[in-house]
Amino acid sequence: MHNATTTPIPTHTDLHIAGRPAPAADGSRFPVHDPATGAAIAEVADAGVDDALRAVDAAYEAADRWAATPPRTRSELLCKAFDLMKNQGEELAHLITAESGKALPDARAEVAYAAEFFRWYAEEAVRATGSLTTAPSGGHHILVRHQPVGVCVLVTPWNFPAAMATRKIAPALAAGCTVVLKPASDTPLTALYVATLLEEAGVPPGVVNVVPARRSGTVVSALLHDPRVRKLSFTGSTEVGRVLLREAADRVVNVSMELGGNAPFLVFADADLDAAVEGALVAKMRNAGAACTAANRFYVQAPVAEEFGRRLAARMSALTVGPGAAPGTEVGPLINAAAVDKVDRLVWAALERGAKALTGGAHSGGAGCFYPPTVLSDIRPDDPILREELFGPVAPIVAFDSEEEAVDCANSTDMGLVSYVYTGDLARGLRLGERLESGMVGVNRGLVSDPAAPFGGIKQSGIGREGGHEGLLDYLEAKYVAVDW
Ligand code: NAD
Repeated sequence: MHNATTTPIPTHTDLHIAGRPAPAADGSRFPVHDPATGAAIAEVADAGVDDALRAVDAAYEAADRWAATPPRTRSELLCKAFDLMKNQGEELAHLITAESGKALPDARAEVAYAAEFFRWYAEEAVRATGSLTTAPSGGHHILVRHQPVGVCVLVTPWNFPAAMATRKIAPALAAGCTVVLKPASDTPLTALYVATLLEEAGVPPGVVNVVPARRSGTVVSALLHDPRVRKLSFTGSTEVGRVLLREAADRVVNVSMELGGNAPFLVFADADLDAAVEGALVAKMRNAGAACTAANRFYVQAPVAEEFGRRLAARMSALTVGPGAAPGTEVGPLINAAAVDKVDRLVWAALERGAKALTGGAHSGGAGCFYPPTVLSDIRPDDPILREELFGPVAPIVAFDSEEEAVDCANSTDMGLVSYVYTGDLARGLRLGERLESGMVGVNRGLVSDPAAPFGGIKQSGIGREGGHEGLLDYLEAKYVAVDW
């Protein structure tokens, strides 16, 4: 199979269970589309409940041996996976672009980020610690050790099909857990590629299983009700996260939830405005705005609001929009027509309420799921566009007067994944680092994601952390043994 630039795309299109490709038991398959053209690029096996439970069989059978594999061996396998992903990076980037639509530079950046989770957790695999202390009463000893949780179900979104998979698989494997991954049905090919790469690295069959499924509700529900499954790690929308929290409650399954965002981006009058515009571009335009960390609400202090809007619009309008794999493309299409409709509807309604489009502002029509980079000024703090996760290349700007007002606006949603602050006053940056209600804060920085740091949200943006040492702990249970001697 070939994409627009005629780079061959390897397509593993069957389920991946116990180290082997397998069709769905009922023979179902579903098409995967290139969002730039709408053309079908592959037909992927569509797992049903029986297939998902076969994947649990494989993960359960592999679990004890994998948990008992020396941490150094697990670490070396993850190192090998890191090397393979780096070496095959170009091939993988083209595959990501083909099924997610993202511009090739974004896909290359994703591969680099995704691979780093293998390297980071290769280093963490040998650092799961415990402790032995004397009880305060002196009567016994307290031995604490960390044990792998067991079989984990991983559910990932379409927008970072490689990185969201490795951000879960790497810590799970480092901790000694085995996994069943259900990728988004828009982007299953990347997850299948990652599973094959891990086995090429030497990870034993059954440790990583992948079950693409269009009937995701039924399949994930069956997985969560299997008594051998001990954990769910989900990345996706808050809406689906809520459903899965309820499902997980039946068996009190351990959960990690990486959910939606609605990031505020604060620019104070004392900020370096050029740096703020560059940071805004990174925070807004990675993945054409379809990132959970995407800046969604721009609050700019009144004396610089107009100038910031003008400069941001100039930079946004100069970006090249096109098919992800075409030379020079900086902004690819959105994932599907529904995503374009949603953005178009939100922008249109804001314009109706009096917002001004400094650039973009209307869907150009035509083939492919493209939406133009858009900057909207004159947005009121209570405008409904600020309440929705846009998931597209649109920057609404609200002017504010005081720090207090900016903090109130920033904290005024149910989401709390990430916030950004640009200021020349480091004390203010640190102060807001505490006061902003989000799991992560970027101070004079438009990119916070780092495999070495704990990524995650508060409020309705999630539960738990991925990345950093904290990400390993999410796949370990603390076991306490009381010892007399
Ligand atoms: P989504 O919630 O629609 O889907 C996520 C995954 O859940 C997919 O695999 C999907 O097939 C599956 N799914 C959908 N309905 C289900 C159901 N009823 N039961 C079980 N599984 C179901 O999200 P999406 O559109 O793929 O991704 C975009 C969302 O993900 C955005 O809200 C974004 O903010 C969020 N996201 C969050 C992070 C983070 O780290 N916090 C990272 C990336 C994306």
